[in-house]
Amino acid sequence: MATSLLFRDDAYLKRASARVIAVHERGIELDRTIFYPQGGGQPGDSGALLRASGERISIIDTRMADPAKGDGVDSVLHIGAPGAPAPEVGEPLTLEIDWPRRYALMRLHTALHVMSCVVVAPVTGGNMSPDKARLDFDIDMSLLDAGRIERETNALIARGVPTETVWISDAELDARPELVKTMSVQPPRGAGRVRLLRIPDIDLQPCGGTHVSNIGEIGAIRVLRIRSEGKHNKRVEISLTG
Ligand SMILES: [Zn+2]
Repeated sequence: MATSLLFRDDAYLKRASARVIAVHERGIELDRTIFYPQGGGQPGDSGALLRASGERISIIDTRMADPAKGDGVDSVLHIGAPGAPAPEVGEPLTLEIDWPRRYALMRLHTALHVMSCVVVAPVTGGNMSPDKARLDFDIDMSLLDAGRIERETNALIARGVPTETVWISDAELDARPELVKTMSVQPPRGAGRVRLLRIPDIDLQPCGGTHVSNIGEIGAIRVLRIRSEGKHNKRVEISLTG
């Protein structure tokens, strides 16, 4: 059974209720979730599942289920801390994500979208943690100037425009290959449609991650370092300034 991904429609949900679908050594599957499963360079959420008794099941990571390993199709695995109690199938639970951690990831993730419009080059990789994030570009090192990237990214962030989620068909995406900047991450497809993040007049690209609703929430970024990771990978690492 597919897990309903509540964060797709509302990335700001901090608590929700759900029912247990399956429990096994690889994780806990629920009918719906606010926990983001690792993907697209964004780490899986951590948090807790609360039982009616008040008992906490601490969740240390979230991954997409793997049907090849016996998990449900399009299901999400909530991975309990070692020794955490296991819930019963059918049991109702209250879900609670580690919100400060997720919100930092949402701000950094959205900042990467903005930065990808300042550095005009194919993106060959990307990753983020709650305290820093990076994109790799296929570009000449001499074209990467930390001061310029920082200034121009922060100037775009200061526009304070709202972000929008839009969906297009697979066929529309295939007809507009220029939308796919990230060569290392396949767009999140499913049921014939693709999810895009639009930052009006700044960016439009396929993405299944969680983003802030207005880029002003990012605040500002700092370029931590720029270094070469190979001929086609010049890495720009950033953090939030506050
Ligand atoms: Zn994104």
